[in-house]
Amino acid sequence: MRRSFIREILEHTSSDTISFAGGLPDVSLFPHKELQTATHNALENAESLQYGTSTGYTPLKEQIAEHYSERGFPTAPENILITSGSQQGLDIICRYHCGASITIEKPSYLGALNVFRLNSMETTSIPLTENGIKLEAFKQSIAKSKLAYLIPDFQNPSGRCYTDKTRENIAKMLEDSQTLLIEDAPYSELYFDAPHKSISQILPKQSYHLGSFSKVLSPALRVGWIRADVELIKPLIAYKEAMDLHTSGITQRIVSEYLKDSESFEKHLQILRVVYQEKMHYFCKQLELHLPDFEYIEPKGGMFIYGKFNGVDSRALVQECLKNGVVFVPGVEFGGGNDEIRFNFTHSSFDEITEGLKRIKSVIDLTKS
Ligand code: PMP
Repeated sequence: MRRSFIREILEHTSSDTISFAGGLPDVSLFPHKELQTATHNALENAESLQYGTSTGYTPLKEQIAEHYSERGFPTAPENILITSGSQQGLDIICRYHCGASITIEKPSYLGALNVFRLNSMETTSIPLTENGIKLEAFKQSIAKSKLAYLIPDFQNPSGRCYTDKTRENIAKMLEDSQTLLIEDAPYSELYFDAPHKSISQILPKQSYHLGSFSKVLSPALRVGWIRADVELIKPLIAYKEAMDLHTSGITQRIVSEYLKDSESFEKHLQILRVVYQEKMHYFCKQLELHLPDFEYIEPKGGMFIYGKFNGVDSRALVQECLKNGVVFVPGVEFGGGNDEIRFNFTHSSFDEITEGLKRIKSVIDLTKS
């Protein structure tokens, strides 16, 4: 069992290392004051300190269900299982389907690859195109898979976003083959132009839709959820109980208190979209200035720019870069090519983006000379 490159890197980087590695939000954009107030309110009642139910804090499940319904995806609180981050949601589903065959994207999210490995799941990887997964290959693969795992919104690591047409085609294919969908959507609210309809919305009885407050509120809260048909949720509850009894009642209440002011949350989301888009544009400009050989597609949302330096071994490059105070994730860690790289553009400041890319340039110049 291999450890996650990113989590290891996070442990070993010094404070002056510029990190384009983790999928970290911008600290300056956390709604710190509002969350302080929400924490105070959550702790007003001593009941907040008690054990809670395994499926989650009812008012929070109601708020999440309402959010789905308002977006045209009818959802009741019984369709929601609160989890300790969406990472746990994925783990619970995969423990239940232990040993099952699963079709995934190539490249795919590192934390998911580890869950599939730990649960002895047999993965088949299908390449991504600009519009989403390759449809013909996907169709052939799901004919032999019990499950499919997709990240259609600003995928991690590739940043790709599935078109509406691709989503419809995929839903039809899954319906025909009766393959269960795990749709992982932590970046779905971080769109720069417009939101997309989820595939789960077209296939509500045949899908697990994973959500999270990590990218839009704070990852430290560790609050995520699974949205699924009641019959799909029921068998998962025993797994949740066995893992941690329930997700922290305090953090669930903090989120719930925070969400009571829905206008403030909407405003916060809008700020994230605007600032992250600015940062993405800035990152791309600096790439063109300092690393013009880097080939990539501009993302339309999310947190990542993915691309390649033709013919460069990005694993060797990152080791040299680490010595020079900058880090990113090589594409091979996600099942991508040797010359591919994922950059996170949300965490660093504008100055750090410039400085970090200059440091990478100087490492590349040195290796050329
Ligand atoms: N899925 C994807 C695609 C992710 O990128 C991440 C975090 N990087 C997660 C799930 C897990 O997020 P969390 O557990 O913080 O909700």
